[in-house]
Amino acid sequence: MDYFPVFFDLGSQKVLIVGGGEVALRKLGLLERTGAAITVVAPEPLPDFEQRAAAGKIQLALREFVPEDLDGARLVIVATSRRAVNRWIATLSEARAIPVNVVDDREASSFIVPAIIDRDPVLVAVGTMGTSPVLARRLRERLEAMLPRRIGELALWLRALRHAARRLRDTGARRRYFEQIVDGAAARRFVEGDIQGAQRLAQQLLAGTADSAPAAGEVTLVGAGPGDPELLTLKALRALQDADVILHDRLVPAAVLDMARRDATRICVGKAAGGIGSTQQQINELLIEHARQGRRVVRLKGGDPFIFGRGGEELEALRRARIAFSVIPGVTAAAGCAAYAGIPLTHRDYAHGVTFVAGHVDGDGREPDWRALAKTGFTTVFYMGLARVQHIAARLVEHGAAEALPAAVIAHGTLENQQVVTGTLATIAALTSRANLQSPALLIVGEVASLHASLTWFNAAAPLEVAQSA
Ligand code: SAH
Repeated sequence: MDYFPVFFDLGSQKVLIVGGGEVALRKLGLLERTGAAITVVAPEPLPDFEQRAAAGKIQLALREFVPEDLDGARLVIVATSRRAVNRWIATLSEARAIPVNVVDDREASSFIVPAIIDRDPVLVAVGTMGTSPVLARRLRERLEAMLPRRIGELALWLRALRHAARRLRDTGARRRYFEQIVDGAAARRFVEGDIQGAQRLAQQLLAGTADSAPAAGEVTLVGAGPGDPELLTLKALRALQDADVILHDRLVPAAVLDMARRDATRICVGKAAGGIGSTQQQINELLIEHARQGRRVVRLKGGDPFIFGRGGEELEALRRARIAFSVIPGVTAAAGCAAYAGIPLTHRDYAHGVTFVAGHVDGDGREPDWRALAKTGFTTVFYMGLARVQHIAARLVEHGAAEALPAAVIAHGTLENQQVVTGTLATIAALTSRANLQSPALLIVGEVASLHASLTWFNAAAPLEVAQSA
């Protein structure tokens, strides 16, 4: 380790910046947040510096650097455009044992400035010791995406809780209390913005009632999106990385499951997977059972949990069992498939609304309101309708839709093997079966389906053309 990382308290300390250009301005922007007493020396600085000086935020000397500028300085940043001048100032600083950074000249610097994430009071610094600023930036971006947006507020909240925690008997009890908060549902709720829920959990923990509460574990219903793992939300990713147990649908691709914590238990509860959890009742029981054991359970569903996902039923069961739950939405198949097929679901010229409909018939054989769906000027998306494309197209035409109304079937949407077949209500069923599309697939009916021809972008030279010309 050639450098020693520290956090330097600069409050009211004199910091000298030599230079008045863009680079110096960027450093000034950072240093301003520390409450340092900043002096800038530059003969012709950018107007920003003069504005700040006029507002009393910095001292500005409109002249060349002189050695006396170093008097009393605790830190020096050098950013003039002249390398020799920079080095001379660095040498003078070193001679007076003042830490100095020459921007973009590591050799002349006694300290370097890391890439940082500032979620005050949480600060993350990343350095590659000058080997690769690009790598440092990328690392910072990844960490940035991983850290909850409210991590700084979380730190402040934890500090505020210290007061109440004083009534816990000893330091061991206090540490356990904070561990339970940080590792558990309380902190998770807090960073998700459920401040009241977090407060309540913290109070329960403090009162020692959390353990006797009906369930210590909790269930998060997570939307996994339509297939492409990059369509997971940041929240979904975090939930997967925090999970002890993941109960997932058969539709959730392996690439999504790969994002989960390595040692999380994965249980497939897909209907076609046979074996365990093949009925909704059994899935509910599994969720409750794992949560009761104090685990963080993620119920991972394709697309969005509240769109044909039976998410509501699962939450009702959890509520009855008095198990804490939360929901993370996902990109629903209609949105994902439409985007990746270049079919805008609404369009000022063609569709003023969109309806999501279950294309299959449920147990009691109820049919959708075909007359309403056949209305012009709207888009209809049929989920779970691959086996019934013929039936759906025929009913729509029967109830007044034009035979020439465009339609598209998208299979394995957003995935590498996505297939799109377009036609009209008169032709779509035959084209779909000729292309031998496999589930999962959805059917989009409406003028907008014709836009696929001009707006397609994903896997653009794909089996569509083959299927249509076949
Ligand atoms: N909750 C899910 C839908 C579950 S129902 C969501 O919001 O997307 C399952 C149906 O979703 C499938 O029968 C199919 O119609 C559709 N579906 C899911 N993933 C799909 C994909 N990648 N491509 C096409 N259709 C998909």
